[in-house]
Amino acid sequence: MPGETRVAISPDVTKKLVGFGFDVVVESEAGAAASLTDKEFQDVGATIAQDEAAALKDADVVLKIQRPILEGDANELALMKSGAILIGHLGALIHREEVEAYAKAGITAFAMELMPRISRAQSMDILSSQSNLAGYRAVIDGAAEFHSALPMMMTAAGTVAPAKVFVMGVGVAGLQAIATAKRMGAVITATDVRPATKEQVESLGGKFITVDEAAMKEAETSGGYAKEMSEDFKRKQAEVVAEHVKKQDIVITTALIPGKPAPVLVTEDMLKTMRAGSVIVDLAVEAGGNCPLSELGKVVVKHGVKLVGHANFPGRIAKDASTLFAKNLLNFINPHIDKEGKTLKFDWDDETVKGTLVTRDGKVVNPMLTGEGS
Ligand code: NAD
Repeated sequence: MPGETRVAISPDVTKKLVGFGFDVVVESEAGAAASLTDKEFQDVGATIAQDEAAALKDADVVLKIQRPILEGDANELALMKSGAILIGHLGALIHREEVEAYAKAGITAFAMELMPRISRAQSMDILSSQSNLAGYRAVIDGAAEFHSALPMMMTAAGTVAPAKVFVMGVGVAGLQAIATAKRMGAVITATDVRPATKEQVESLGGKFITVDEAAMKEAETSGGYAKEMSEDFKRKQAEVVAEHVKKQDIVITTALIPGKPAPVLVTEDMLKTMRAGSVIVDLAVEAGGNCPLSELGKVVVKHGVKLVGHANFPGRIAKDASTLFAKNLLNFINPHIDKEGKTLKFDWDDETVKGTLVTRDGKVVNPMLTGEGS
């Protein structure tokens, strides 16, 4: 995919798979943008394929960061053999017609972003591993765009005040953003709609900004995600946020609602009241943005405020992101490795398998795609 810097396997995971008796083939330079060289893969037993056609031709299992490209000369699906297993972030709920194409091509596909949020599956959860790094990187990018320091500094020439960082949305990314900004010495405030987040913010040394305690009790789905809030809550939240952002230096927004556009949290009117040189890092930009003025893939200045809208934040810390992603995939397939047959034998009743499986035997099978689930 254009702009993708990560690779779906690490030397460490290669070594483990080779140890299980698999032949591991890595496309030449696949890890180059993540500072993982062909030599590092070769040294632990991988074969380097000259191009993706050679890498995919005989593959029984294909590990990818993102879904295959289906259009034009680089039709990756056409390069895969029927019966192959595809595992990666497939964006299956958004790219449904592509899932149909996997089924038609006889591919058994696992969409790792659909991993159920059960505690056993935490080590397989690509959304968590990548969000965590994105939260860290958001602070680094925000600090780099900010014209002042984050920590308080007492120098002979005078005192530098600590920066005020406001984190909106305290999921995996938000918690890591708080922890990172705190370590850098900033003064932290944060808000979310899920009640459990208040204590989490406080335990990291931040101050929680409450909008409406009663409404928060209803804000979480059984799956642990946020619901879309009522118009009344949105109005109250806008009032609280409008007052608060005026005094902030860096605002990091991470709020997402699965299957819906990201909620608008910082409006243009609020932006106008912020101090010149303040920074908003919009981690939700790929889902439409928590600030309507942020632009995907760009850093723009609007009303004197810098809006950071990089695409693919985890890809901006590509080596660690690749290493953790690869480990997530290994943790997923590990229980299903048939060590004698040196092959994968999935337990089709396993919750992690059922949750992520999207195509099998020429059919789309996941209830979230067939309309039998939610
Ligand atoms: P997410 O990326 O879907 O959303 C980010 C945050 O935005 C969430 O905290 C959400 O509550 C918040 N948000 C949504 N709408 C908002 C609004 N209008 N205003 C303010 N905030 C808003 O969430 P996530 O990071 O994937 O994590 C969600 C939860 O799932 C967390 O509690 C996390 O610990 C949990 N989780 C569990 C597992 C597991 O058990 N396997 C794995 C990963 C995450």
